[in-house]
Amino acid sequence: METARKRRLNKPGADPEAIRAAAECLRTGGLVIFPTETVYGLGANALDATAVAKIYRIKGRPSTSPLIVHVASVEAAQAIVQEWPESASRLAARFWPGPLTLVLRKRAIVPDIVTAGLDTVGVRMPDHPLALELIRQAGVPVAAPSANRFTELSPTRVEHLPESVRQAADLILDGGPSPVGIESTVLSLAADPPQLLRPGMISRAELEALVGPVAPAGRIENAHPAPGMHRKHYSPATPLVLVSEGRLPQAGRGAYVWMAWPAPAARTFAMPSDPAGYAARLYEVLHELDREGYDWIAVERPPATPEWAAIIDRLERAAGSPGEPV
Ligand code: AMP
Ligand code: MG
Repeated sequence: METARKRRLNKPGADPEAIRAAAECLRTGGLVIFPTETVYGLGANALDATAVAKIYRIKGRPSTSPLIVHVASVEAAQAIVQEWPESASRLAARFWPGPLTLVLRKRAIVPDIVTAGLDTVGVRMPDHPLALELIRQAGVPVAAPSANRFTELSPTRVEHLPESVRQAADLILDGGPSPVGIESTVLSLAADPPQLLRPGMISRAELEALVGPVAPAGRIENAHPAPGMHRKHYSPATPLVLVSEGRLPQAGRGAYVWMAWPAPAARTFAMPSDPAGYAARLYEVLHELDREGYDWIAVERPPATPEWAAIIDRLERAAGSPGEPV
């Protein structure tokens, strides 16, 4: 669509006309970039295969990578899945709206392109007033992966949007920084026992407290049940290395992202020492350091404890060296 139509809209809830225009855009097959509490999404009507196809093209995303469908109510989630088990009710009551995606058997109305041909669909209700109002007004479920190019860093502010993605969207809603800062936890309820497909800030222990044992992510063959499970993902353009106790690469100029061990580098960046604070800043810091053009970004490895699992997962993927599944 011509860029003259493109508007950038500020402040959650501050511009009802902008949200109305974005909802109309989704209903008529357009693409809207919108904020969620995790990262910014590139959204389309999930029931419109032609609109969804544009998302894959713009992101350079392989067709084996299913999209998350965003809804504004439990009822809207139930309308796209075949069954809604008791475990889903319990999880949604506790964690929705919030950064938890539930994978369930899909109904036929969900086009295959949304789910990469799988018979399951990932669905979540985002905890962001602007996203919820947009989805509610659109009146359709919204398929939305992160608004970045495939394998690159997710945007947590409109300033992080790659130019090509920005240009390809019909409308951009600006809701400021995404407060959670990393992608949702993805849990499959189509597996028995439920299986963690992607760790996130809602931890495996929190899920298990509600639904009993949860299997860790296993090896993925053929189609990827979770896009975030590709080996290299969430990466800055600058090579990222995970280091311990400040042991930095010897060659070249680099930036050091540290918590407890300051060490001499061309640039240093101190991170919050709590997982929620760290996650909220992580992509923002990586975007910023990436733009500064170092030979490397060295990130101090966070503690190997459960509350850091999602952050370690993203860092290992950003480094292109995922360890054991979490
Ligand atoms: P992204 O949209 O880039 O944040 O990643 C989408 C996430 O959605 C992936 O990590 C998958 O885990 C998840 N997902 C979406 N649909 C499915 C599905 N049908 N089966 C398994 N995972 C899914
Ligand atoms: Mg993504």
